[in-house]
Amino acid sequence: MSRTKKTDVKGLQAGLLGWFDRHRRIMPWRAAKGKRANPYHVWLSEIMLQQTTVVTVGPYFMKFIGLWPTVGDLAAAKLDDVLTAWAGLGYYARARNLHKCAQAVTSLHGGKFPADEQTLLELPGIGPYTAAAIASIAFDRPAVAVDGNVERVVSRFLNIEEPLPLSKPSIRDGAAMLAAGNPRPGDFTQAFMELGATVCTPRKPRCGLCPWQQDCKARKAGNAEELPRKLPKKAKPAKFGKVYWITNAKGQVMIQKRTDKGLYEGMYQLPTTTWLTDKKAAAGLGLDFLQDKGAKALGASVKHSFTHFDLNLEIWQYSGRATKLPAGGVWVYPDELGGYALPSLMQKAVRLAAGAAG
Ligand code: SF4
Repeated sequence: MSRTKKTDVKGLQAGLLGWFDRHRRIMPWRAAKGKRANPYHVWLSEIMLQQTTVVTVGPYFMKFIGLWPTVGDLAAAKLDDVLTAWAGLGYYARARNLHKCAQAVTSLHGGKFPADEQTLLELPGIGPYTAAAIASIAFDRPAVAVDGNVERVVSRFLNIEEPLPLSKPSIRDGAAMLAAGNPRPGDFTQAFMELGATVCTPRKPRCGLCPWQQDCKARKAGNAEELPRKLPKKAKPAKFGKVYWITNAKGQVMIQKRTDKGLYEGMYQLPTTTWLTDKKAAAGLGLDFLQDKGAKALGASVKHSFTHFDLNLEIWQYSGRATKLPAGGVWVYPDELGGYALPSLMQKAVRLAAGAAG
């Protein structure tokens, strides 16, 4: 890319690395200045940080390295325990892949993460971004990791008006041009992301604090806050259903393990009807295994947004005649629910149902 000269790139890299040395944030998975990071910590944090913020990830990261100090320990853990520890972080396929990846690193690589991007890419749950992040941050290999923060910085620095996702190739080229030949690949990757996370923020970028302000094209054009542009999102379909707070005479509540492949596989839920796009049809559904018609709506509902649809579940209560357990069903006392892998949708449902049912 000829938009920035080679000599200018060296100056930009030095500016960004100097800024990072002064302003780097302390994070539990980040090595101290001048020290090499632990590849297990880098990998774990990168998987957790996908779709989630640094603040949310912190306690989960500490919990995981407390329970499983090495990748071998995580590989030997039961999947159920990993899912339980992950509960609330969302996107549960990541937790299953995390476990598979730990097992692959242990069995194929003797418990050591490979250092090169290509070999990393062959591991479960590691895509191009994560492979580049691990290769550079953990092993100081030249690699360009483009996350949402880097996309924003590059779009603005080069004033790329084309909307995402069409602009991804140009952004990638721009990021590669800005990173090429830098002397500290691991720090550079982190600095690039950190600039986007703390200075070149989605709203009100703090250009006055930016080490690249002199050369930034969007700052000069006055349109930084409008970038990156995005193609309008398609409206998501809505789905409807009912979720049940079913209690027995001992005060236990029924939860059920999901055995079907796909969404929430292997996790626990409050029993729920099939989720349908037809609201009226969804309202007519119930649970086959309840032995009488004594279920009643609690007048509350839980909403959740998935990648491909929005969900609205009405909360129902049932404390009628003893009912036989459905497949995967277990009775647990409400204060034991924390020991089960309940996705955040179901945790919300539990809070609402327990509150409304009194
Ligand atoms: Fe972002 Fe402003 Fe820096 Fe440009 S000058 S990269 S818009 S913070």
